[in-house]
Amino acid sequence: MPGKYLIRNATAVTVDGKLGTIPNCDILIEDGIIAAVGPSLSVQGDATVIDGTDSIVSPGFVDTHRHTWQTQLRTVTTDYVLSDYALNIRTIYGSCYTPHDAYMGNLCGALESIDNGITYLVDHSHIMNSPEHADAAIKGLRDSKIRAVFCYGLYDNPSWEGSAIDESFNAKDSDWRLADAKRVREAQFPSNKPTDLVRFGFAPTEMELTTFDRTVHEIEYGRSLEAAVITGHVGIGKYDIGQHLVQKLEGKKLLGSDLLLSHCASLQDSELRAVRNSGVSLSSTPDTELQMGMGHPIAFKACQHGCIASIGIDITSNNPADMFQQMRLLLQAQRHKENEAHVGPLPSVAQKCYQVLRMATMGGAEAVGLKNVIGSITPGKRADLLITRCDSTRLTPVHDPVGALVLYANASDIDTVFIDGEVVKNKGVLTGSDWPAVRSDLRDSARAIMERAARAPRAELQQRAERIVKGNQLDPGVIQTKV
Ligand SMILES: [Zn+2]
Repeated sequence: MPGKYLIRNATAVTVDGKLGTIPNCDILIEDGIIAAVGPSLSVQGDATVIDGTDSIVSPGFVDTHRHTWQTQLRTVTTDYVLSDYALNIRTIYGSCYTPHDAYMGNLCGALESIDNGITYLVDHSHIMNSPEHADAAIKGLRDSKIRAVFCYGLYDNPSWEGSAIDESFNAKDSDWRLADAKRVREAQFPSNKPTDLVRFGFAPTEMELTTFDRTVHEIEYGRSLEAAVITGHVGIGKYDIGQHLVQKLEGKKLLGSDLLLSHCASLQDSELRAVRNSGVSLSSTPDTELQMGMGHPIAFKACQHGCIASIGIDITSNNPADMFQQMRLLLQAQRHKENEAHVGPLPSVAQKCYQVLRMATMGGAEAVGLKNVIGSITPGKRADLLITRCDSTRLTPVHDPVGALVLYANASDIDTVFIDGEVVKNKGVLTGSDWPAVRSDLRDSARAIMERAARAPRAELQQRAERIVKGNQLDPGVIQTKV
């Protein structure tokens, strides 16, 4: 339960524009809130004191694009391009998940996140093989104690003999997910307030692969459910098929601050202006974008256009839920790009460490509509923060705490994680789970998924997968149903 904690004598990298970085700083946490920040705080009553000497306190990381269910598929996609991903993940493995698998994927994906200092995640959950999958995925997030938005995905994993898909739902109504999303919103998220730990969001069918009318309907439907975030994949580099969705949505006056668009590397300048003017947010996922031909991450360019830019992990079938890794990759890839574009050597570094740290924290909070709730060490905000110990061989000594977080630290340096004022990682160990027991269940779940996947009719599924990446639309039966 949230209590009263006093972190003494830390270096606070607040990512608060006014407070900046404060040496020898105390942070008081009370009733889930950052109550005070400053040197030598005097505190009334009992508080659990944590010595912050030789430590950095920073805001928890905000991951704005994750398909959390894929935890069991760790390392499967590491040599994939996007077409491999479309076949194997979106037509085979996704069809092999039972509700229990969805639960384990979300629980363990969230636990991994907490271990790595990610205190908030956008779960773009396109594993809705049945209503039970939705309930299980939500329970996985809740049981981990992470802060998150569960974005109900309308994507339809294909059914094939030996898969885990129960065809009876589609047989009754191919649009059953729309009604089920409403059920979930009402039953599981009755308030959906900004301070609720897990909120309801919405993830339409692949927006560039379905008809525009359908996309419009689905966005309006998500808004009718008052989804906290509506998210989708847009403008995917070499896979962009020229839909110009942002332009079309602008024409219909449908852009808004609830929209969070992932990838977006191929957005034109006019579209970035529309994104900025309407308060739409963007999420870059450096590992998958750079690997899979999805274009150079848009994040820095988006910032230059005044847009809200943030960072996502995307898939742990490809890379760990490690924001340090994504910050580093994003920053150095951008520095390389700008070095290459300049005639002769640059006189000073193109982008600074602080900019990418801000994207991974405050930028993420802005992207999900929580800029007044999380994202910085600011009195009055919810206490989602990390204590990173600078005791390792890699972090002794530290002259620049921001550079230390962006280019040196890793999860093993994170001693303590607070979410909503509760200690969820303490002295380097997760507090909320019996990890060896959970790990054993996760391995069993992964094994069963692999066994089902081995039975997939790959040649038949290949055609459908090609339609996903070439944009020839998904199954007509799914697309053309009345909405
Ligand atoms: Zn994605």
